[in-house]
Amino acid sequence: MVRCLRFCATIAPGSDVGFFAKDAAMMQLADGIRRHGFKKWYERELLRGHAHLVVLIFCCLGLMMALEGATRFRSTADQLFDLMAVVVCTGAGLWALRRYMGLLLRAESIANQADCPRCKAYGRLELAASTSPASAAQTSEAPDQQVAVRCRACGHEWPIYL
Ligand SMILES: [Zn+2]
Repeated sequence: MVRCLRFCATIAPGSDVGFFAKDAAMMQLADGIRRHGFKKWYERELLRGHAHLVVLIFCCLGLMMALEGATRFRSTADQLFDLMAVVVCTGAGLWALRRYMGLLLRAESIANQADCPRCKAYGRLELAASTSPASAAQTSEAPDQQVAVRCRACGHEWPIYL
């Protein structure tokens, strides 16, 4: 479901579908913090982002090989295959670049909000008791998408915005 909503947001940014994808991203953040803790969630997001970077590198290699192959004089079928490879590698590479940038920017944005405003402890947070993925999804009238978290060191609560 989350992947479906993200795909819809990719093809129609700024629409209502984008709102639902942001809601899904908020639910994913809350779920990740609850299951793994903030630091593990952050590590996993960075790994996911860099996995897309690896895909991008392979797409660049495939694109260069296909372009080199297309310049040699061969049969029309080979050149059509090379052209198809160029189109596929370009499309997949652009998709991977967009996902890489999106995942890293979102992770950095959230990590910048992970300092406790009261005691300045970094990343020592858990979901506040009032936040659950189900209740967060139902508060669609909230002006901003946010997840309420609580510091494990001092108990202070603050919102993290997506
Ligand atoms: Zn604190």
